Amino acid sequence: LQIAKRDGKELQFFSPEIKSYREQLLLENEMQSALQNEHFEVHYQPQYHSATSSMIGLEALLRWKHPDKGWISPGEFIPLAEESGLIVPLGEWTIRKVCEQIKEWQEHGLEVPKIAINLSLKQLLHTNFPKRVLEIIHQEQLNPCALEFEITESVAIDMDHAAEAIRSLKESGFSISMDDFGTGYSSLNALHKLPVDKLKIDRSFVQNILNDEQKAGILKTIIDLTKHLDMMVIAEGVEKQDEVQFLMQNGCEYIQGYVYSKPLPPMELAKRVQFEMIRKKAP
Ligand code: C2E
Ligand code: MG
Ligand code: MG
Ligand code: MG
Repeated sequence: LQIAKRDGKELQFFSPEIKSYREQLLLENEMQSALQNEHFEVHYQPQYHSATSSMIGLEALLRWKHPDKGWISPGEFIPLAEESGLIVPLGEWTIRKVCEQIKEWQEHGLEVPKIAINLSLKQLLHTNFPKRVLEIIHQEQLNPCALEFEITESVAIDMDHAAEAIRSLKESGFSISMDDFGTGYSSLNALHKLPVDKLKIDRSFVQNILNDEQKAGILKTIIDLTKHLDMMVIAEGVEKQDEVQFLMQNGCEYIQGYVYSKPLPPMELAKRVQFEMIRKKAP
């Protein structure tokens, strides 16, 4: 395994492409103890309204701080957690952690926007998931409207059961967004069948958008589609200002990406929210 290094303020991840079965098993075991020892952290990436540069939401993103390997990226451990089933307790830990964080921020007077949490299909389909989430929310004395759940087109693998769980979450007052839109299969069917509030356009459709007419065409069509379906639309992985301009001109007003901010550890995020609050109140 390569080692993730801490490069100044930035966290850099190095993921080896192929892992042996032994390495996978080892990592799975380590993940289990990492969960017990709280070696996971949740970072938060802000989402912005481009015209006013105001923060409209946050996405919670898991990070694993390995005692000797450094930071391990979710791209590496989420698939393993899904395979081993650990995603169920890990996912629940994440939801609870986010709720506790919201509570803490609220107690400090911070006006935090809605926080989106990624869900794996396995988690969503796990017995009583919607009920469990409500229990956590109630334990933390929060309102379901504080949270949004991000699902992917993978829900199409077991549409009937997934739809049941998603509708139940929606009826309880949580928001639902469709993540990585355009990369999976059966996208339109999923959108048609599910109560989706917000669509997240995958980074692959944003990259190189100014030099690729076909891609631009697809992007415009996706944006149009969201208008017809009365959904909010946000572009992910936006890195450049000219991409922001293009998206704005074509009706996508919400942006998540390095152009505004990387995912931030809780303390840094809190500072940013505070800054936003001061800016808004300034004459
Ligand atoms: P995602 O949900 O699509 O999250 C967006 C990913 O894009 C994040 O990667 C984020 O750091 C990255 N990103 C954001 N803006 C930019 C940008 O401008 N440029 C580039 N190059 N990348 C950008 P991250 O944090 O490594 O997470 C990867 C994936 O792991 C997530 O993709 C999500 O599918 C999964 N994941 C993360 N946390 C969780 C979790 O708590 N539960 C589950 N089930 N999955 C999670
Ligand atoms: Mg996501
Ligand atoms: Mg995504
Ligand atoms: Mg994803």
